[in-house]
Amino acid sequence: MRNISLLRLGMKEFQDIIGNEDAKEYFIKALTKNHLSHSYIFEGPYGVGKKTFARKLAKAILCEQRKNDKACNECQSCHMVEVGTHPDIITIEKDTKVIKVDNIRENIVREMEIKPYQAEHKIIIVNAADTINVQGQNAMLKTIEEPPSYGIVILVCENLASMLPTIKSRCITVRFNPLSKEKMSSYLERKGISGEEKEVYTKLSEGSIGVINDILQDELYLQLRKQSVEYIERLNKANLLQLYDLVKEITDQKEDIEKILEFWLFWYRDIAVIKTTNSRDLYYLDYQKQLLDMSQKLTYNKVSQNIESIKHAILDIKQNIYSTFVIENLLLKLKERKK
Ligand SMILES: [Zn+2]
Repeated sequence: MRNISLLRLGMKEFQDIIGNEDAKEYFIKALTKNHLSHSYIFEGPYGVGKKTFARKLAKAILCEQRKNDKACNECQSCHMVEVGTHPDIITIEKDTKVIKVDNIRENIVREMEIKPYQAEHKIIIVNAADTINVQGQNAMLKTIEEPPSYGIVILVCENLASMLPTIKSRCITVRFNPLSKEKMSSYLERKGISGEEKEVYTKLSEGSIGVINDILQDELYLQLRKQSVEYIERLNKANLLQLYDLVKEITDQKEDIEKILEFWLFWYRDIAVIKTTNSRDLYYLDYQKQLLDMSQKLTYNKVSQNIESIKHAILDIKQNIYSTFVIENLLLKLKERKK
């Protein structure tokens, strides 16, 4: 019975996660030789498998019948990890924008003082550890410095620079990297995506499975991408009256304004690439003709100016500056004659 339900959960081990060969190799050795450290930092960009890796690693560590580095997937412990009910794994998430000191005191410092309920280890996984404020990092320093024999802390973060040097120096940092193009390409093939679509997705993903899954789950993503290009094309042909129609249309899409601007940024980056190199390493591989047309009409300076103007507008939108004002300004700037 249990085996069947585990199969249904789509069991995968940390050894099977694609990419990140160094991390796998390290932990296969560490588990086989029983040389685990008490504190780790898993560092790397969004969506490259850090959290999944941490959870699967925890399963292998806690497995009651582990053979070398392999979890058995049959014991009660393995089952509880898979369904997220293991009492000796504690996962900490962001409170709001940060992880507050109280959360650290309660869920790391105090929890670590309590012995594991059923396993030989107690594992605390801190997601977004780079958002722990300085107070919080100081509060957990002692736990990291003098952990109990059963304690393992995994700090998962995107930005290592936000961690205090005193924390970093006491942890083993495991670096997670974006997937290579080849790995991403074969991942997409397994999802049934091929041809030009695959090329486009590979580029958009920038090596992140998380990004690609976000895109695949968001039906509107590609639609908005297409619409963003259409806006640029319309802007190029627009007279002043039509320009103001565009301002209204774009600002009516309140939730999407920032995304549209991000798409524009990629668009002009592609044009800059076309103007300076022969590379076809483009985000808009599927719009090469339009990109070429437009690149012939713009000087390199004008393209750079456009990129700067769009970046500026994105910042303004993030800071809640009145969007009609921001977009109107931006469109007028993009329309300006080339210099
Ligand atoms: Zn097991």
